[in-house]
Amino acid sequence: MAKITLDNLAHSYLPNPSSEDDYALKELNHDWADGEAYALLGSSGCGKSTLLNIISGLLQPSQGRILFNDRDVTHAPTAERNIAQVFQFPVVYDTMTVADNLAFPLRNRGRDAAYVAKRVQEIAAMIGMEEMLNRKARGLTADAKQKISLGRGMVREDVNALLFDEPLTVIDPHMKWELRTQLKSLHHEFGHTMIYVTHDQTEALTFADKVVVMYDGRVVQIGTPQDLFDTPEHTFVGYFIGSPGMNLLPAEVQGSEARIGSHTIALPAAYAPPVGKAVEMGVRPEFVTFTDDPAGLPVRVRRVEDVGRHKIVRADHEGTAINIVVPEGASVPEGAARVAFVPARVNVYADGWRVRPTEAPTGKAA
Ligand code: ADP
Ligand code: MG
Repeated sequence: MAKITLDNLAHSYLPNPSSEDDYALKELNHDWADGEAYALLGSSGCGKSTLLNIISGLLQPSQGRILFNDRDVTHAPTAERNIAQVFQFPVVYDTMTVADNLAFPLRNRGRDAAYVAKRVQEIAAMIGMEEMLNRKARGLTADAKQKISLGRGMVREDVNALLFDEPLTVIDPHMKWELRTQLKSLHHEFGHTMIYVTHDQTEALTFADKVVVMYDGRVVQIGTPQDLFDTPEHTFVGYFIGSPGMNLLPAEVQGSEARIGSHTIALPAAYAPPVGKAVEMGVRPEFVTFTDDPAGLPVRVRRVEDVGRHKIVRADHEGTAINIVVPEGASVPEGAARVAFVPARVNVYADGWRVRPTEAPTGKAA
């Protein structure tokens, strides 16, 4: 197992990158702690595979270094890095049996037959393929082949890190949940450093200790699922995490007041004039409440969705959408209404990035 350090790392697929836009992976400095389970989360094309492939050695970065336990491996081939990587689509030896496919990485390292047999059995149980061990991989479904790939990724106990690149894409939904649970228990058992790439927030939040959120080639936040929910450092995190995501209201912020459209609301803290062009106030739907207070922000209720444990109210203020989560059983006003925000849960963003208040919050949280 290893701590993985990304030092000044960046990558461009172009031969002569000139501007930041030319980089698929923008400059990044980070330590991936030994033994931690990370999810790398972001939409398609944001650079997740690029980063993972640099860590595994499939790709040479155009800038910076990568270290395993402080040893520079930037130019070391994949084999020397002692990692296991599982890809989005199955990579199996068709002419080999399921058992031989699973045993391959162990035999390759010269492990003895008794150990190999024991470990193959354990892994087959984890991926639910004990009945198929003697079948050739050829002719199996994509789903079954992908389980073999996963199993082969997990079979070695002595790897520096386990890297998964959207490994459950071709797996059916029920099995997805089960395999994710297996990966998590594998992590608890062996404490490998794991990096799990996904574009699915549920997968990321249930699997990982820490979630690394990427947006447009940049790591915008690294934190626990709770950090990402409580304090999104970038509007993308607020919007991408949560269901529905954080409300974003274009605002003019002055001191401890935010002007939203033609209405002014009090903020819980004072802000220096934001330097960015686009200033927004962000508040999650869970922290918006209906109020009778005439100082509340006027909204118009458009639609109510009952999703079981709570209702999602779709409203807007002068054309800007505001979602409100209300508890099951609570009444929802129709048409014109007013909303208030839980003060401690309001964040201010300038050009997408969270702005820190100049004065500490007053602590008048609801
Ligand atoms: P993700 O895995 O998050 O979907 P990728 O890391 O695959 O994203 O891609 C990041 C960006 O780099 C995308 O714009 C993609 O088109 C580009 N890219 C990926 N691989 C290559 C490549 N081999 N050559 C050129 N551009 C690439
Ligand atoms: Mg990818």
